[in-house]
Amino acid sequence: MADYPPLSERPLKNTICLFDVDGTLTPARADISDEMLELMAALRKKCAIGTVGGSNMVKQQEQVGRNTIDVTTMFDFCFAENGLKGWKLGQELPSNSFIKWIGEDQYKEMANFVLHYIADLDIPVKRGTFIEFRNGMINISPVGRNASNQERNDFEKYDLENGVRKEMLRVMRERFAHLGLTFSVGGQISFDVFPNGWDKTYCLRHLEDEARKPDGITYTTIHFFGDKYFEGGNDYEIYEDPRTIGHAVKNPDDTMKQLRELFDL
Ligand SMILES: [Mg+2]
Repeated sequence: MADYPPLSERPLKNTICLFDVDGTLTPARADISDEMLELMAALRKKCAIGTVGGSNMVKQQEQVGRNTIDVTTMFDFCFAENGLKGWKLGQELPSNSFIKWIGEDQYKEMANFVLHYIADLDIPVKRGTFIEFRNGMINISPVGRNASNQERNDFEKYDLENGVRKEMLRVMRERFAHLGLTFSVGGQISFDVFPNGWDKTYCLRHLEDEARKPDGITYTTIHFFGDKYFEGGNDYEIYEDPRTIGHAVKNPDDTMKQLRELFDL
């Protein structure tokens, strides 16, 4: 591993480049290239660099660390699950979770409501795992996540005609309006529930924490590179955020091209 100047001694010490992982640093669902790794190493001599992935750290370690190098040593900052999990120079930063945020009592109330609601739903097929409990969110599925591919396709079609998820979302938004939750439909059979603001902008909280530390660095220029920058994409909020300079990329080659131009690499 090459040596890097301490963060406070980089030529552009108040600048950080943050990168989405899938489709931006790596091809979709594939590993990072040697060329990208070399470019990251060169950029790291000029400013701070960080990842911002939506998936968990295991996935990031696979794609960016190729399961051979500890990814937290390759970037100054690594953010997984939009920043609910973070590392700075290999050290883990304070983490957050959906259950920590909502609390057991309020979660129980919501889980009970969801299970009652689904119990009363008259839909052609029900399977299992109606609530999937994840670190940063819950995922709710009226048919259940154990549905087979055929059952998923059938539910999607039925849902389109009958608005099962649409109506459930309407009722839940009203019932839990006081909690400040985002309800997001994606995929064929389910929807996600997570606190407002727990998109990729969440990771910016860690950078703001840095500025408050003794001798901490204030990042006045935050570049963000992402391929899902359009509305509904998981880079949209951070790409549009006034605290960042958003760069829309088509693929990893485009990321490299833009970096070479921007930083004269
Ligand atoms: Mg992406």
